[in-house]
Amino acid sequence: MKLYNTLTKQKEEFVPVNEGKVGMYVCGPTVYNYIHIGNARPMVVFDTVRRYFEYKGYDVNYVSNFTDVDDKIIKKAIEEGVSASEISERYIKECQKDMAALNVKPATHHPKATQEIDGMIKMIESLIEQGYAYEKDGTVYFRTRKFDHYGQLSKKNLDDMKAGIRIAVSDEKEDSMDFVLWKPKKEGEPSWPSPWGDGRPGWHIECSVMSKKYIGDTIDIHAGGEDLIFPHHENEIAQSEACNGEKFAKYWMHNAFLNIDNKKMSKSAGNFFTVREISEKYDLQVIRFFMLSAHYRSPLNFSDTLVEASKNGLERILTAVDNLREILKSAEENAMTEADQAHVKDVDELVAKFEASMEDDFNTADAISAIFELVKLANITAADGSKEYVQYMFDTIVKLCDILGIVTEKEEELLDSDIEALIEERQAARKAKNFARADEIRDMLAEQGIILEDTRAGVKWKRA
Ligand code: AMP
Ligand code: ZN
Repeated sequence: MKLYNTLTKQKEEFVPVNEGKVGMYVCGPTVYNYIHIGNARPMVVFDTVRRYFEYKGYDVNYVSNFTDVDDKIIKKAIEEGVSASEISERYIKECQKDMAALNVKPATHHPKATQEIDGMIKMIESLIEQGYAYEKDGTVYFRTRKFDHYGQLSKKNLDDMKAGIRIAVSDEKEDSMDFVLWKPKKEGEPSWPSPWGDGRPGWHIECSVMSKKYIGDTIDIHAGGEDLIFPHHENEIAQSEACNGEKFAKYWMHNAFLNIDNKKMSKSAGNFFTVREISEKYDLQVIRFFMLSAHYRSPLNFSDTLVEASKNGLERILTAVDNLREILKSAEENAMTEADQAHVKDVDELVAKFEASMEDDFNTADAISAIFELVKLANITAADGSKEYVQYMFDTIVKLCDILGIVTEKEEELLDSDIEALIEERQAARKAKNFARADEIRDMLAEQGIILEDTRAGVKWKRA
């Protein structure tokens, strides 16, 4: 399996630290608002990477953090007159709802920065002890000059960076490229006690600490959007390798940006969409499919025309799966004919094509075209095929879709008799003054598109 490593700027064969296992760390969102569709790209892409490794039999430890202490969170909390943790907890819950709707599997571990402060303090202490960090008036800085390999990921050199960027030279720092590990408390902000006084961590330290705690000193894959390469990931490498004396991450994967109508997404330009807003217009499964229709290292342009094209493409696959399901319902038990066996070979070749695409740096665009070819084959061959063949074709398409996180099962429709039984149960609950259960049943029915109307003659219902 080959993947492109930002560190070496080339595709490399994947060799895990521990055989049969993959430890992946994906930088998660800062939770001060609903996630936007750009944030959804790394979630969908790296969830698909995870699913593929699992399909190949690897035991994947997938870690993704929530940054729940940050200037933006504090600003929002002040605006609303609530605590910072109220804001972050609220948007973690909302983010999890969006992830579920995008069929992104929950991580093995979803650590939150505020729960890991002790570990951060310990790592900062170790960096100070080893001469990689220093404190000035309650602020702790990382001493970039001391870390020889600084700039290895972003291919930047400290002197060029200093020459190229005009940075306000702060009196406190030994060097303008030094970055903050710990900052002192400001009035009204959340803070934690530390050896350097009350304060809070800088942004980068949390990922070094959480990846070490939940995966180990050396992780297989570290991932995130390409905007994180510098300074975030560069600083993570410096902190972790200075502290642990071990290589931090073997492979670095970065997704390119999602733009809207070929422009960078920005709130001020008015082309900014949350996943929640988009879900009112499109099934999020369409958005997931759309995101995988391009290679993760290519910029992706979000436009209605392109999303509509993905919607049609996805529908073609789902319709084919439905047709196969219908054929299977009425098909007689019979074994494969010679013609079926020849088609099975074609199916297997397409599975091999799907796998080869995924193993070439997760080329989901080509993997999807292998599924389209399977669909075409199914549409031509299934009607005359044996039950065994149709079942094989059905199972294969469902399996490949599942690797991409595309759900092919149909939600079973509630039968009239089920609805009536639930209505009766609701009436009984109301009589017993168990209004919570009565409301729960009403909501459950509403989710299935069943509308209840309480009339004098009893409860009437209809499908929306
Ligand atoms: P943030 O909350 O800004 O730290 O972002 C969370 C994740 O979303 C990071 O991996 C970012 O690189 C990624 N991200 C942010 N904006 C975009 C975008 N427009 N396209 C793709 N990825 C993005
Ligand atoms: Zn990070």
